[in-house]
Amino acid sequence: MSSTVFFGSARQARLEAKETLPAKLDLIIERLGLRERVKDETVAIKMHTGNNMSYSTIHPVFVRRVVQAVKDGGGKPFVVDVNWDAAGAELRGYASETIGCPVYPAAGPDEKYFYDHARTYKSIKNFRVAGLIQDSSFMVNFSHIKGHPSCSFGGAFKNIALGCMAGETRSAMHDVMHYDQYWFPEKCPEPVDRQRMIESCPFSALVEDKHHPGQLHLHMEQCNQCGRCLKVAPAGSLKIDAVNFHSFQEAAATAADVVMSTFAPGKVTNLALATHMTPVCDCFGFTSMPVLPDAGVFGSDDIVAIDQAVLDVTGKSRLIEENLPTVMEVHTREGHPFRWLHGPLKDPYVVVAYGEKLGMGSRDYELVDVLPVEKVERSAMQYIAAH
Ligand code: SF4
Repeated sequence: MSSTVFFGSARQARLEAKETLPAKLDLIIERLGLRERVKDETVAIKMHTGNNMSYSTIHPVFVRRVVQAVKDGGGKPFVVDVNWDAAGAELRGYASETIGCPVYPAAGPDEKYFYDHARTYKSIKNFRVAGLIQDSSFMVNFSHIKGHPSCSFGGAFKNIALGCMAGETRSAMHDVMHYDQYWFPEKCPEPVDRQRMIESCPFSALVEDKHHPGQLHLHMEQCNQCGRCLKVAPAGSLKIDAVNFHSFQEAAATAADVVMSTFAPGKVTNLALATHMTPVCDCFGFTSMPVLPDAGVFGSDDIVAIDQAVLDVTGKSRLIEENLPTVMEVHTREGHPFRWLHGPLKDPYVVVAYGEKLGMGSRDYELVDVLPVEKVERSAMQYIAAH
């Protein structure tokens, strides 16, 4: 069955406040019926508050509108993020005075407040859901869209999969990329061959395994699957394989499913802001130039549909290659522009496909534009010569 995704374009016809993104967010909040759904609910607004000196996360103007809508509806809102981002959130503009509600660390200041959920995905046997998430009765999953080094894209799934888990599970989700064997030491016994492989990687993705001397370790986040190392690797010693890269996204979908299972049906809604989309995650502690043009704001009760719609809309944009950090390279031009940026095996659609497989929602959706951009008609111009 098709889901509904509400959308407000970043583009305007006229230079008027009512056609800008905060006003379109208001229309989406209305269409989602947020006010009517939160009476007496304890509402966790999960967002990424950034880190250090980042400034491309969701601007407090948007957060305030969501907070106000929850208050208007009789709910008790608070913003949550992981402890190390929540700790300095006020430095980036997220304080009660600006957004209208407090910002809390989701699993407590020491990440010791969580609930265990037994669920297996490869090496992960247990998912630790942050205490304040599980204790809340309603969640607004408010994500900022950007690139990501592990999976090429951070959206609604990633916002709650990583952000609603305690630290141990976040680490396990990154480590799961190493579950399927990619390094075969018996095929590369000579140190000189290993050194040649290490030196072949321009991104320092391939290193000596500090826990297992004589073996190699692949930093999946830094690898854009360019294949340079394979050119010098002894036959069969190294695999650069989709299964490792996809594991992160499948683990993320599983984690998001666990988070959603702690809410009653209809008690989660998703908002996403696709502006100032940087190549890597908001947790890096800085903001770099946008690599895609601003797309707009999205809202849906269906987490699969909203990420699918965000990817489809942003996928039609061009990658702003002149804005890329010079350390990055584009070596594929197929699929979504985030894939161009992070490599062919980091396909951002994997997470939505896996989420749909888990029964979390539908990739089939109807995009409802809450305020279509009007085409302003003009009569023909008269040429006026300059003097
Ligand atoms: S595929 Fe490219 S980026 Fe990845 S480890 Fe090999 S050389 Fe480095």
